[in-house]
Amino acid sequence: MHIDKHQDVIAACRFCFMCRHLDPVGNVTFQESDTPRGRALIIDKIRMANENLKNPDFIATLYRSALSGANRFHCVSHYDEVGLVLAARKDIVEAGLAPEPVKALAEELSQATFTVKGKGKTLYYGNNPKLYAGCKVLSGGDPGKALEVLGFVSESQAVFDRFKKTVVAANCTTLIVAEPSAYDFLKDKLDAIKVEHCSEYLLSAGVKTGPARKAYYLESDFLKNYDRNLTAPRQLLAQCGYKLVPFGTNNEESYSVGEGAVVFDRLNPEVCAKLCQRVCDLADNLKTNLLITPSQYVKTTLSKYNSHIRIVSLEEAVAQRKD
Ligand code: SF4
Repeated sequence: MHIDKHQDVIAACRFCFMCRHLDPVGNVTFQESDTPRGRALIIDKIRMANENLKNPDFIATLYRSALSGANRFHCVSHYDEVGLVLAARKDIVEAGLAPEPVKALAEELSQATFTVKGKGKTLYYGNNPKLYAGCKVLSGGDPGKALEVLGFVSESQAVFDRFKKTVVAANCTTLIVAEPSAYDFLKDKLDAIKVEHCSEYLLSAGVKTGPARKAYYLESDFLKNYDRNLTAPRQLLAQCGYKLVPFGTNNEESYSVGEGAVVFDRLNPEVCAKLCQRVCDLADNLKTNLLITPSQYVKTTLSKYNSHIRIVSLEEAVAQRKD
């Protein structure tokens, strides 16, 4: 089983409660099972008796993890509690035990196709092509990351193979990726093609600035907790004249409402609504505070659950300074 490769994490996390305050889901369900310790105890039970893999409560708990990476990032030994859950999901899928909503979502994600338009040696993959004059534009669904986090390994590979074929056929030397989950997935996968997060590209391209403007930056689970706390987004916003203010009560917790799980809102809308409510409750003034996120998922999800929230994507924040 895939979980067997993570014995060290099981042993470390199952009796440790040090990072319980950083689990986004545990913070809104108040259930011990929704913490790294609770999930490690569940997976330890599965390790000891494979029959426990069939327990529907265990399966639901493992698909309810937000995979924010905050716990792993701030764990003093960086135990890979995210990798442990992902391994368990692969075991669930390989045993044919994925819940029906998960299977239906995986089937939908497996249909992703990709197209390229325009001219240039740089290819842009995101929602704001107007910022990237002279670049080709790649459109389509998720490149395979969502299927990977759901535990569908071969289906993820099939989608990625189609994505890669499209990128290679575009004959470009650089791929600019906007969504942090896609950047995390693609950054080491495209051989001779340089993969940059859009903030890195825009920073090197030079941006216009504007009058100083206060904004709250919602850290990305991927860019912070998975990708070594990429500094380019904050540098870019600072160059544009934004005075960034820390959001919430601390700088360790994830306020990205399930970004790490990529399709969290599709599978767990009730919990996701609670995650969004928590963010709204922590805002000083929801109607006047400007929130900036590098993730379209975060923007869309927070806007879905509260129409009053003022949130823009990082690219939109930059574009507002270019007008
Ligand atoms: S990730 Fe680290 S701090 Fe959190 S439960 Fe595991 S060992 Fe403890």
